[in-house]
Amino acid sequence: MTLEEISSRLDGVRRMRAGFTARCPAHDDRSPSLSITERDGKILLHCFSGCSISAITEAIGVSVKDLFVDAAIDPRDRAQHRAQQERQRRERELRREADGYTIDACKTAQHFIESRRNLDITLWSDGQLNDELNALAVAYALIESEGL
Ligand SMILES: [Zn+2]
Repeated sequence: MTLEEISSRLDGVRRMRAGFTARCPAHDDRSPSLSITERDGKILLHCFSGCSISAITEAIGVSVKDLFVDAAIDPRDRAQHRAQQERQRRERELRREADGYTIDACKTAQHFIESRRNLDITLWSDGQLNDELNALAVAYALIESEGL
């Protein structure tokens, strides 16, 4: 699925600089506490009230595997999509280098993210995918909270 398809299933959607926020469908959410972003071909759902990815996907009627965007992209567009993601990643790196400061926790998060690139996830269970996406969302949230 794409970011837009996921967002169309949610209420209170607001477009942000990176992705969307919406009301979390997995708990009684009055303010938008769900963040929806796409990184490296994965849709990352993060509920700031702590709902799990599987609770959220269940509530909107999709499977955890649907959060892997590549499957939804026409193979002919995939290379272009990858190239765009790679360009964005490089831009983030350059910005980070220009900032000239590093934080150990962020480095660790970055290493974690790097180590998860291009893994073959086709044989993973929904539980593994769920854990993996949770960890990635936390790693990205950490990096973003440091403004890197
Ligand atoms: Zn929630």
